[in-house]
Amino acid sequence: MRASVFDALASFDRPASAYDVAEAVSKARGKRVAANSVYRILDLFVGTNLARRVESANAYIANQHPGCLHDCIFLICDTCGQATHIDDDKLSEGVRAAAEHAGFAEVRPVIEVRGRCEDCS
Ligand SMILES: [Zn+2]
Ligand SMILES: [Zn+2]
Repeated sequence: MRASVFDALASFDRPASAYDVAEAVSKARGKRVAANSVYRILDLFVGTNLARRVESANAYIANQHPGCLHDCIFLICDTCGQATHIDDDKLSEGVRAAAEHAGFAEVRPVIEVRGRCEDCS
């Protein structure tokens, strides 16, 4: 089941919701899979860095580099939904440092930029 969910997630070229993934898994397995169980597995993937959550899109994306821990920055196109993934440690470290300076603990920066991608603009 986990492998099917991961394959389905990786087959999307943009962030996919749990419902999108549940539909793809249902199709691939030939039987209905509940979005709830897909949700649980996706959260498990996020916990183990196999997938990333795109908060503002309420969606998930397979992590291209599960080996390295970044505070990933996503550029999300309002028109086509495509998410471009960039890593700028200087930027995220600045956010992290500012939050910690304010006494905030277990800081997990979520940096998402909405706009229009190169293809759509
Ligand atoms: Zn990253
Ligand atoms: Zn676009």
